[in-house]
Amino acid sequence: MRRRAILYCGAVARGRAWADFVARETDDLELRVWTEAGALDAIEYLAAWIPPPGLVTRLPNLRAVFSVGAGVDQLDLATIPDHIPLVRMIEPGISECLSAYVTMAVLALHRDLPTYIAQQRESVWRELPVRPPRECRVSLLGLGRLAQAAAKPLAALGFPLAGWSRGPQDIPGIACHHGAEGLTTLLERTDILVCLLPLTPETAGILAAPLFAGLPRGAALVNAGRGGHLVEADLLAALETGQISAAMLDVTAEEPLPPKHPFWGHERILITPHVGASTQTETGIRALIANIRRVERGEAPEGLVDRACAY
Ligand code: NAP
Repeated sequence: MRRRAILYCGAVARGRAWADFVARETDDLELRVWTEAGALDAIEYLAAWIPPPGLVTRLPNLRAVFSVGAGVDQLDLATIPDHIPLVRMIEPGISECLSAYVTMAVLALHRDLPTYIAQQRESVWRELPVRPPRECRVSLLGLGRLAQAAAKPLAALGFPLAGWSRGPQDIPGIACHHGAEGLTTLLERTDILVCLLPLTPETAGILAAPLFAGLPRGAALVNAGRGGHLVEADLLAALETGQISAAMLDVTAEEPLPPKHPFWGHERILITPHVGASTQTETGIRALIANIRRVERGEAPEGLVDRACAY
């Protein structure tokens, strides 16, 4: 049987593991790692984080492009012809890891970890008031796969939840808001704001002074979306005035965060190096293969990107 070829451009160790998995578990597909692609006219599927410039145009028999991550903002969408489906990665490993990360970040801010870390450095034993989760209103920017997964452990801990999306949503246990007016209402009832938006032309720079001004004074911020959502100077200014009390950031405009960046030494900012979630080896390749099967049956793949919205 002729094996249809998937070309993989991304972390090499994952590529090797995925190639082994595809060889072991399927008899009609093969996965080739970029730089050992062989004849490019045999490639029908591209699974990439950032493909080499011009590669897509050199694949005459390409049927679909799969991002190996949850977002597609790292790709130049203009280089992928409109008739080629573009698909983001939806797999349970990402949701599990990101919901654990968001829970950690919300708890860290709710339980005043930035203050206690600073106090520990100074050998200071000083208690802040202990408040139950039910008194801490958490709001999610974005109500997609990952935000809905993160909402479950937060709801179980007792945090009152609200969320914001582009179109209307109806999700049990979450007060749902949408559009510009919905954002104003959401911000007014927020003690901890969690960004889980995709980075698009509409959402770039959304975490900025006007949004911060709409929050109650002293609200805290978690950015687990993309660095491009945050105007970093505005966060520093809002921390300075106390409008924002603290932030936990998994993503930054420049990654790695440059050594001299003011975020590193800031007592009110917790930084993690974009580790909220990553595509897990086995669940990721299972999801990719399942999507290739959908494409071949003429069905829409899970995670099909709407080019007009860029997510
Ligand atoms: P998703 O399922 O596509 O959900 C996106 C959500 O954002 C939807 O609710 C959507 O609204 C909303 N949205 C998009 N544009 C909007 C706008 N202009 N105004 C208001 N709401 C808007 O995405 P996901 O799988 O949950 O992933 C979200 C993002 O998480 C990814 O794009 C990526 O940036 C980030 N991420 C980060 C990490 C990490 O390690 N830190 C890991 C994975 C993913 P509708 O419901 O109306 O469509």
